[in-house]
Amino acid sequence: MTNNQKMNIRIGNGYDIHRLVSDRPLILGGVNIPHSLGLLGHSDADVLTHAIMDAMLGALSLGDIGHYFPPTDPQWAGADSLVLLSKVYQLVQERGWQIGNIDSVVVAERPKLKPHIEKMREKIAGVLQIQPNQVGVKATTNEKLGPVGREEGISAYAVVLLTQE
Ligand SMILES: [Zn+2]
Repeated sequence: MTNNQKMNIRIGNGYDIHRLVSDRPLILGGVNIPHSLGLLGHSDADVLTHAIMDAMLGALSLGDIGHYFPPTDPQWAGADSLVLLSKVYQLVQERGWQIGNIDSVVVAERPKLKPHIEKMREKIAGVLQIQPNQVGVKATTNEKLGPVGREEGISAYAVVLLTQE
């Protein structure tokens, strides 16, 4: 980058929560995690991927994922959220932006997510054609407080930095 070229940057944040139920798989960051409970939703209810998608859309003021993939549309029933993520990334790329980095937090009381974090980072980075070191995924509990602490749901937060040269 020379002096007369300016790099544009945009930041976005995303939040999502889904209810835990007994008859669904638990999919986080595209990884199927063995657990007695799974997340309820119209798509595969991948709360982490949804937070990242909302952060990407938010960075460009493009609205939220409910606008692009409405829960009333049968087309997205049971959808693989990584496929939805690639569609959102297409919107970002069409506007000439790329990802600088992503950072995210999954808040879940159980199960232990640490053994699955590397795989989540690889999956998300693979879809976005970036390096796993550009995708931060952290996991924490809610210290048994509130709905997440009572294992009624799992929530996720994400921030995304977009760059344009
Ligand atoms: Zn969601």
